[in-house]
Amino acid sequence: TQACLTAIEGADALGAFVHKTPELALEQASAADARIKAGDAPDMCGIPMGIKDLFCTKGVASQAGSRILEGFKPEYESTVSGQLFDAGAVMLGKLNMDEFAMGSSNETSCYGNAVNPWRRGNDDTALTPGGSSGGSASAVAADLCLAATGTDTGGSIRQPAAFTGTVGIKPTYGRCSRWGIVAFASSLDQAGPMTKTVRDAAIVLGTMAGHDPKDSTSADLQVPDFEAMLTGDIKGKKIGIPSEYRMDGMPSEIEKLWADGADMLRDAGAEILDISLPHTKYALPTYYVIAPAEASSNLARYDGVRYGHRATLAQGDGITEMYEKTRAEGFGPEVQRRVMVGTYVLSAGFYDAYYNRARKVRTLIKKDFEDVFAAGIDAILTPATPSSAFGLGEMAEADPVQMYLNDVFTVTVNLAGLPGISVPTGQDKQGLPMGLQLIGRPWEEGDLLNTAYALE
Ligand code: GLN
Repeated sequence: TQACLTAIEGADALGAFVHKTPELALEQASAADARIKAGDAPDMCGIPMGIKDLFCTKGVASQAGSRILEGFKPEYESTVSGQLFDAGAVMLGKLNMDEFAMGSSNETSCYGNAVNPWRRGNDDTALTPGGSSGGSASAVAADLCLAATGTDTGGSIRQPAAFTGTVGIKPTYGRCSRWGIVAFASSLDQAGPMTKTVRDAAIVLGTMAGHDPKDSTSADLQVPDFEAMLTGDIKGKKIGIPSEYRMDGMPSEIEKLWADGADMLRDAGAEILDISLPHTKYALPTYYVIAPAEASSNLARYDGVRYGHRATLAQGDGITEMYEKTRAEGFGPEVQRRVMVGTYVLSAGFYDAYYNRARKVRTLIKKDFEDVFAAGIDAILTPATPSSAFGLGEMAEADPVQMYLNDVFTVTVNLAGLPGISVPTGQDKQGLPMGLQLIGRPWEEGDLLNTAYALE
């Protein structure tokens, strides 16, 4: 813990930690020491972690990267962070993220963006750590903590993991409780760990997961010992390569990474099969209807009364002006865009044409996966991202759709509620890390982690 606190002090330029909690960390670390001495030391005992700013942490600022939650200190602890602390984990502070987890580069954060510790060769251009869990990825990659929590609604764990050479797993929807995590799109949101290795991911996920009566979508299932399932034996496993993920204009380095990954799994005894997921091309538009729709509803609660920021009002302003001014000041442009898109697709005249249509297509996307799993496929191998990390400002200056295209390989997994993991498997010509994604059957994170372990 002390070593991490020192490293964090020297790493302000990365912008990874946005609220530091050194006193709390030292207190938790001595409590962990006492547990170790008493012979009661669970796996996470004394492990220094960073917590994404989206998690409500008791008495510690929890702003979801937004100005509208300025000054908000929750009275309660999210279930996931609470389980980690009960198991002895130490919190070093809160980690940077895109505002309300909306973004793929951490550039929508109210704190300013986190930076990727990696550089392109000798080029000094600052690169994005990805988003929305960019602070988590940057902190783990730069050794500021041993592990971090992330959340993934449309790739926000897996894409930053791929951009920073770290491991990130989004578990099956319902595996981790969403209670106490600021909601973005409730039918897609899942928490998961970001770590250096697959083994660490297995250990941390085991502590984060589990049934919680406070989240009605949390699954009442036993959490297996994921670490014990890491045998490295994947003989006879059937790995599918979906043709629809071979996009036009895909960089040759990503294609090579993908082919090399398939070879590695084949060498380890797996069978590699071509498969088809025919509705893949509709995934991005479907996601960018459903996620903003749910977000517009979830974000209605930020009214200047119950939480955080309230605008200064002028003489004669009424409650409408209070809402308008507070929300105009408190939400950044990307969040405002999502709220507008969301309310539009949910409005009476357009509901059927957009929201209901998107829900139907979502069912078809889910069925594509069910069909290949029913045909015997154990896991699906794809690239995690269409490129390696891009420069800060490079995409944000283009139109927002350019940024949305970054999520092309990741959003299908959220729409289908499946577990997906990003594993670092190579580097591009400039030495930047690149990752592959493995998608597994529902509730089979153990198998998925074991396949990832063979790829690592
Ligand atoms: N980049 C996606 C978005 O902006 C994913 C975000 C996420 O997974 N939280 O919606």
